[in-house]
Amino acid sequence: MTNIADNIRKIQSEIPENVCLVAVSKTKPDEDLMVAYDAGQRIFGENKVQELTGKAERLPKDIQWHMIGHLQTNKVKYIAPFVSLIHAVDSIKLLKTINKEALKNNRVIPCLLQMHIAEESEKFGFKPEDIEQLSQETVFSELKNIRICGVMGMATFTEDQTQIRREFALLKNIFDRLKNSTFSEQEDFATISMGMSGDYPIAIEEGSNMVRIGSTIFGARNYNNVS
Ligand SMILES: *Cc1c(COP(=O)(O)O)cnc(C)c1O
Repeated sequence: MTNIADNIRKIQSEIPENVCLVAVSKTKPDEDLMVAYDAGQRIFGENKVQELTGKAERLPKDIQWHMIGHLQTNKVKYIAPFVSLIHAVDSIKLLKTINKEALKNNRVIPCLLQMHIAEESEKFGFKPEDIEQLSQETVFSELKNIRICGVMGMATFTEDQTQIRREFALLKNIFDRLKNSTFSEQEDFATISMGMSGDYPIAIEEGSNMVRIGSTIFGARNYNNVS
């Protein structure tokens, strides 16, 4: 039996106070999210637009919903009215779409730039080589209905702790460079979203202040249950 409430309390007691815990509830039923909710958790992460909007409709309105997965431009409109943070912005085109949909909803949507830090080639995100260009980018301040609040990244899925640490250190380095260039005037460019169930202690040591944890809270995911 997975004790969701205990798992949340345990993680909360282990991580520093400045580190925000996103409970990654993808594939999990509403009941599981409610157990986490009753244990005090208010920030939940989902990676599919349809699942996210369904849960947001059914579950308590004070939940802050984070979109953590790859987002297609044609689906932005479904989450724009309520999403609290979009983690995986990986193109200027997507950013412009988010801005447009946020404007329609008369709000400013906080976003993170997803950086490709892993060696694996299939992962999304801006490349470290793009940083030079991103540090000269003026589009971020021109788009009034988005707010870039930091960066997000995923390490390679590997047992090699040294490699994971190196990739997280790279993301911290990218964050620092952007903080000192494009976003130097912006105090709320402050979030480094890195670390999942298998690697969040390393991520925190390397400077993470937002961890996205699923299976350690809710148990292993069974994708066969997903409709
Ligand atoms: C699923 C997912 C997580 C959580 O993964 P766990 O290993 O279950 O903690 C974190 N971030 C993203 C982007 C995910 O898709």
